[in-house]
Amino acid sequence: MSVRAGVVVTGTEVLTGRVRDRNGPWLSDRLLELGVDLAHITICGDRPEDMRAQLRFMAQQEVDLIITSGGLGPTADDLTLEVVAGFAGRPLALDEALEQRIADILEPLMKRWPDLDFDAVRASNRKQAMVPAGATVLEPAGTAPGMVVPPGEGCEPTVVVLPGPPRELQELWRAAVETEAFREAVAGADVLEQSTLRLFGIPESEIAETLRVAEERIEGFERLEITTCLRRGEVEVVVRHQREAAEARVALGRLVGERHEHTLFSDDGSTVDEQVAQLLADQTIATAESCTAGSMAARLAERPGSSAYLLGGAIAYADEAKVDHLGVDPEVIERHGAVSPEAAEAMAAGAVERFGATVSIAITGIAGPGGGSDDKPVGTVCWCVQRSDGTRMTRSLRLPGDRAEVRDRSTTIGMHMLRRVLRGEDLAV
Ligand code: ATP
Ligand code: MG
Repeated sequence: MSVRAGVVVTGTEVLTGRVRDRNGPWLSDRLLELGVDLAHITICGDRPEDMRAQLRFMAQQEVDLIITSGGLGPTADDLTLEVVAGFAGRPLALDEALEQRIADILEPLMKRWPDLDFDAVRASNRKQAMVPAGATVLEPAGTAPGMVVPPGEGCEPTVVVLPGPPRELQELWRAAVETEAFREAVAGADVLEQSTLRLFGIPESEIAETLRVAEERIEGFERLEITTCLRRGEVEVVVRHQREAAEARVALGRLVGERHEHTLFSDDGSTVDEQVAQLLADQTIATAESCTAGSMAARLAERPGSSAYLLGGAIAYADEAKVDHLGVDPEVIERHGAVSPEAAEAMAAGAVERFGATVSIAITGIAGPGGGSDDKPVGTVCWCVQRSDGTRMTRSLRLPGDRAEVRDRSTTIGMHMLRRVLRGEDLAV
């Protein structure tokens, strides 16, 4: 039997989409690591009756654990604890020692705002020191403490109450899982394992066919929970299973590897960005971009430690910029156009030379909405990955989608080309 959980995200700013929910997905990953089966994530505004309804809904779904996010601040619209205390049938009482600890946290902050009335602030923070009977307090990472509230009389689920700001929520979560009350709530959870296969350059339908074959051939296949999704032009196959089904998972990985040898690029969960970062360990790289406006460089820079190999990049929209800053021969642009494989090659050669890099990537294209022509419509993109020894790989494609999608796809394709070149595959001079 696995332990089931529900996450209740609160906050009118999240409900209205002004703030994008980061806590639900983060908690989802943490629960998975613990082998807890997350059944629902719901979002409601700062209205107590809506929050109450969601807690009741989770209880009806027979979850063992509810995690709430947000609504623990000092202001009147922060009502989560009152609602949870009512739900669990555990009255709130002032914890004076906790009140003092919150006051200690506030004091240095108060010094920065000398006009504030300390008593008024303290009164509103007294609210944050109200603890449901029997709950375990999680010490504040900001000013708001979290709580682990054990099941009430009616055997409701355990409720972990966490603050909304993601950094605070994450810190308090780590404290929550260490508490006795939390351990009791998840005791007996069967550990679920998750792994991810990633493929590039393959339609989702081909994977569907492989899964049909797997179903016939692999013993225990029905014990694997498989989700495939298309993300940034890659197909991701996520497999979840209980430990005993590990053999079926290994067999599936082998079958996918056999049938899709050239498109399966990751079976250990690594992303193409991580793989490229590893392959760049003893190299240096520079970028030359037009339509992607620096997002290739930004994506490379996102990896920790990238400053060791990422020398920099040029964003060159104008023809003159390509000529002046990347040394592109004006003749090339004149003859083939600024969006052409030839221009991409010249930009890539320029990036290697001007930055003194061992490898470069150039992307030139028309991301739209305007600027296309009959023979080069919007979505036409050309790439070149060039090494300082003169070997290179050049591609030209027409990508579907709007500006943002074309840019995003362009950097993904760029990453996969880099991966191939750095592994020494498919090179031409
Ligand atoms: P505070 O003391 O900061 O008020 P709180 O627990 O009451 O803490 P909220 O009022 O719900 O938290 O949220 C405070 C801020 O934290 C929000 O304005 C938002 O910027 C951020 N935040 C809250 N919930 C989320 C979420 N689910 N995803 C991302 N950011 C969030
Ligand atoms: Mg608040």
